[in-house]
Order: sequence, then structure tokens, then C-alpha cells
Amino acid sequence: SDAAATDVDADLNPEQRSAVEHGLGAPGAHGPLLVIAGAGSGKTKTLAARVAHLIQSGADPQRLLLLTFSRRAAGEMERRAGRMLHRALGLRPTQAPPRFPWAGTFHGVGARLLREYAARIGLAPNFTILDRADAEDLMGLQRQALGLAETAERFPLKATCLNIYSRVVNSEARLDQVLQDHFPWCFPAHDALKRLFKAYVEEKQRQQLLDYDDLLLYWAELMGDGALAAELGERFQHVLVDEYQDTNRLQATILQRLKPRGDRLTVVGDDAQAIYSFRAAEVRNILAFPTQFDPPARIVTLERNYRSTQPILDASNAVIAMAPERHEKRLWTDKVSSERPQLVTVDDEARQAQWVADRVLERREQGLKLTRQAVLFRTSSHSAPLELELTRRNIPFVKFGGLKFLESTHVKDVLSVLRWAENPRGRLAGFRVAQLLPGFGPASARRLLDEMAAPAEPSQALRDFKPPASAAASWAGLRDLLLRLIAASDWPADLEDVVQWYAPHLERLHDDAPVRLADLEQIVRIAQGHGSRERFLTELTLDPPDASSDESGVPHRDEDYLILSTIHSAKGQEWNAVYLLNCVDGCLPSDLSTGAQAQIEEERRLLYVAMTRAKDHLAVMVPQRFYVTQQTRHGDRHLHATVSRFLPGKVVRHFDKVGPANQHQAPLPELLKPALDVAARLRKAWD
Ligand code: ATP
Ligand code: MG
Repeated sequence: SDAAATDVDADLNPEQRSAVEHGLGAPGAHGPLLVIAGAGSGKTKTLAARVAHLIQSGADPQRLLLLTFSRRAAGEMERRAGRMLHRALGLRPTQAPPRFPWAGTFHGVGARLLREYAARIGLAPNFTILDRADAEDLMGLQRQALGLAETAERFPLKATCLNIYSRVVNSEARLDQVLQDHFPWCFPAHDALKRLFKAYVEEKQRQQLLDYDDLLLYWAELMGDGALAAELGERFQHVLVDEYQDTNRLQATILQRLKPRGDRLTVVGDDAQAIYSFRAAEVRNILAFPTQFDPPARIVTLERNYRSTQPILDASNAVIAMAPERHEKRLWTDKVSSERPQLVTVDDEARQAQWVADRVLERREQGLKLTRQAVLFRTSSHSAPLELELTRRNIPFVKFGGLKFLESTHVKDVLSVLRWAENPRGRLAGFRVAQLLPGFGPASARRLLDEMAAPAEPSQALRDFKPPASAAASWAGLRDLLLRLIAASDWPADLEDVVQWYAPHLERLHDDAPVRLADLEQIVRIAQGHGSRERFLTELTLDPPDASSDESGVPHRDEDYLILSTIHSAKGQEWNAVYLLNCVDGCLPSDLSTGAQAQIEEERRLLYVAMTRAKDHLAVMVPQRFYVTQQTRHGDRHLHATVSRFLPGKVVRHFDKVGPANQHQAPLPELLKPALDVAARLRKAWD
């Protein structure tokens, strides 16, 4: 109905509305659509409104493919669209708005499609997904098996090998090209790397293991078959993608195969916010999108920013205006404010933590809840001093993008039992689990895995296996557990059984067993929200919940807590107050990236992304000293820092300066000070 239709669009501006309604009402006119616009201009909101509008016009929620960069973002999109629909459809508060089962990340959706279509490309539907650490280990094993670890003195580390491999896959490029462009120092290893990758790929196939890249690769592969591509293209009536600037070649290929003419394909993004090229994302995707189709895509640009105050916008614009690459976007807002962003100079990281904690509490006193404030940083480890300070002052916080508790050994142990049961021929999980038993060494584990990999049923091999004498008793327990888990899944009871089996081992292996047991109980709670064992494992591997995020139950939803996040993980989000830590050279840009110009530019865009998360208050922190941990005989070092090169005078004039007057110079060594005081006094005498 018309009245309802206006409701979804109620507060949209004309450009946003034209994107939302693109192709609707004119049959056959659903050509490709690109919304390219600056931060906070309502791209994500527009996408959510388009989803709501499509449903309202009769589209089936089951047949919308909604691709976002994290599961959290997908959930947020679902909620936004749901709320709009709720209003538009006049549902009673108790009626649930429709769910969108195909909202998720490229990797998550890929995994689900592959399970469904596995047989069509000769894949076992119970394949195991390797997380990053597992993939590295597998690469390391092949590296060793080929004798590469020993022969060449400087053969790339397993992590580097995986990075190279991953870039080759994701950018659909040749190995020699990738080496030349991104890993020139590894070029001499070219031939050996080729052999290594071949072995890595074969091993994955043999054990039915898929790494993250494979989820995209096989998905693209799946659609290399024209009939299947057409089938999927038909199945997903509409495809909508957020943050398109951070997609890679392979993802663009997937979309191209899914919607070759671009009909009913909507992508939104901002080239000035491209921050994932270190993972082979290509900003070219969004720039070339319009002309990829015939007729070309419709382009909608949005210029009004609804998020930030004018002074924050001015400062952010000044940062991005310094980029040699022009991002032709003029953003304006009518959010006037007399408060300018602050450039805060402090002595060191400890003072920085104190300053931020003080301000956070002060703002809370003034009525700004902690959840409306966020502290951002370039690298996860940068927040350590602040975490200490917050803990000391009892300020609750949640950290995004940090070390996941799923990476801790005890959690991995438990998950490995489940993975092994899902894919009994997979060796990685089995190798880990078997050796948890006392008296069970690598040799016994290998023998067991060999027998389970034989053509006979793995369950039979389990029953027939003769464990080493010293492990006989503990073996029986594991065997029976596995046999039950392999025979049938009962979710989440399976997980509880595993934890019960594991608890005595935990006590034997770790001194802090009670703490670790509490983590496992948390995992059991998370499990209840996931429909099946397979779904649970897939989702946990692809997009693990953050340690103590509300998803994992602690702190609870209604509790107030401060957000700590890497800039990368803060993408697409917004807070009333934002504090950006360590805005000094070496941190931003990171000293790991100070090489190529392209990498420096990516760091500049990171700063832009960070600043544009702020709605009302922004503080950019500049500690004059910071510590770097170095793996050298000198141990940790204590360095003088200078303000980030992205904040030259031209940019800084948009800030209010807080802190000592000599903030742009490195502090003087202690000894020089008295002499200087004398000089100052003398000058006073002369002036
Ligand atoms: P980013 O580039 O950071 O992802 P974005 O372009 O996706 O930003 P949104 O997150 O969709 O922007 O919107 C930014 C803020 O502006 C949100 O709080 C949103 O609700 C608000 N907003 C967007 N459009 C409008 C509008 N027409 N009226 C009022 N508020 C709006
Ligand atoms: Mg957005």
C-alpha cells in the first residue's frame, strides 16, 4: 500500500530514496546499482531500507542474498531492515519481523552453499574448515615434509607462505606476479613455493579440509558451471553487498557469475575507506563496477553526512584531502557544533590511558553511556595499558578485533573433538585430540589416524584400534565418546558431553583449570544459539565471537560497557565519543607498513575511517613516548614519538590542541633542561 511504502522511506533524502526504489515499479528495469558515497552518508541505512522495500514489494526473504563484512554487521542489517518492516507492515509488537537466512559474510555464505552443493563438485559435505592457525600448521607440515625448512637458509616462514598463497588465490594472479609485487624478497623461493603450494592443496583435498580462501575459491568454482550459476542466480532474486570497496577479485568474480548482467545486484561502498588491500581487497572493484555491465550500472552518490558534527567532518575531510589519490566527495552536514576535535598530547601511554579513562568517566557523568563511547587503535596490542587502567578503575569494557578466546588451547581442544567427529578422516583435529591422552604420543596418534583414513568405516577403525598399553584406560573413554558423536549429532548435548569428557584432562594439563572451565561453560552457552553442530563449527571458525562480547553472555546485554576496537573492526559503526590512541608515526602509519606508498595511503584511509566513526566528540591522542616490544637482545625499547605524518599543520588547524606547548617536538633529554631554562630566562631578560 502507498501509506506503508512511504513509511519505510519516511526519513530518507531524495537520493537515498531513489536508490531504495531503484527498479521497483518499472518491470524489467532492475539493472545493477552502485551507491558510492562518503562516511556516514547513510549507505548502510539505504541498503537496509532497500531490503525492507523489496520485501514489502513481495520479494521472498529467503531469496535475498545480503553480504556484509562481518556476521555482526549482517545481524545489524537484519535488525535495521526488520524494524523498518515492522513499522511498514503494521505488525503488532509481538509479531516477529521476517528473518533473512542468507545474510552473512562471503565466507559464511560460501560455506553453507558448499555444504549444500558439495556433491556437485566432488567435495564431501562434511568437509572441515581450517582456521588461520590450522592452515598455517598444515602449511608448516608440508614445508617440513618437502625439506624446505632445513635446506634453504631463508625460506619464508609458514605464515608468510600462507600469506603468499592466499594472495595468489584471492587476487586470481600468478605466483611470480604476486612475489614480484608484494614479496620481492621471497622471489628466489619461487620454484620451491610452487611445489609447496601443490603439496598443500593436495593435502587439503586428501583430508577434505578447506581453508578460508577455499570457501571463496570453491564457490567461484561451483559457478564455473553455467547451469549451476544460473540456478543460483535464480535462487537469489536479489543480491546486496555492503562495504564493496573491501572485496577482492575472487569475490567480484563470484558476484559476476551469480549476476552476469548485474540485474537485481546492488553494491554500496566508499573508495576513501578501502582498508583491506593487505588482504588482497581491490578498490578497483568498486571503481570499475559501473562499466562492468552493459548497460552500465546506475550510480547514486550521497553527499549529506548524518553522523558527525561539522568540525569533525572538516578535520576528517582535511585528512583525506591530503591523499594523492583524489576521492571526489564533498560531504556536508547540518550538525553544527562549537566543539572541535581535540589533539591531545600526553607524556606516554600510561598517561594516555589515564586521560582517556578520565574523559570516559566524565562523559558518563554527563549522561553519555559507556556503550556510546569507543576507544580505537591501529593494532590490538596498543590497548594493553588502557585495559589495565580500566580494570584498575572498574570500568567495564568489551574488546573487538582482539585475541579471541577461541584461540586458547582448552577451547581449541574441545572444538577439535567436535571437528574430528564431523570429519573423522581429518588429521589435524585428530592429531591434537589423541595426544591429550596420557601415554599417547605422536607415533600412536599417527597410527590411529592412518587406520581411520583407510577405506573402511572410520568407526570400525576406532573400534579395532589397539592403543599403547599405558593409554588403554583413557583411550576407552575417548573412543566411546567419538563413536557416539560420529553415529549421530544431538545438539548442544554433544558439546556438553565433550566438556564432561575433557574436564579431567583439563585438570591434569592446566593449573588454572577452574578459569578455563568457565570459558568452556561460556562456549556451551554460545552453542545454544546455533542450530546444529555443523552450523556452530562453521560459524565459530569463520567469525568467532569476541572475547566477552554480549554474544557470549558476558557482560550482559543490559550492562553498560566501553567499546575497545581495532580500527579495522570498527568499520561501518559509530559512537558519540571516539578516542583514537597512539596517533604517532610508527603506530599510524604502522612501522610494518612504512614501505610502499600504496601501503602508506592505506594507513591514511585507516585514520580517516577512525575519525569518521565519531558523532559528537573526537579525541586524537599523541603520546610523546611509547614502548615497542622487540625480539632483540636489547629487549623492549622506549622510543620518542612524533605526531603522525597524516596530521601536518594544514590538518592540525582543524583541532583544538590539548597538552604541553612543545607538543610537536620530541621531548628533550632530561639533562638539557636546566641549560634550556637558563636560556629562556636570559631571553626574557633581553626581550
Ligand atoms: P559508513 O561509510 O561509515 O559505513 P554509511 O554511509 O553506511 O557510513 P550509515 O551508517 O548508514 O552511513 O548512516 C550513518 C548515520 O546517519 C546513522 O546513524 C543513520 O541512522 C543516519 N542517517 C542516515 N541517513 C539518514 C537520514 N536520511 N535521516 C536521518 N538519519 C540518517
Ligand atoms: Mg556503512
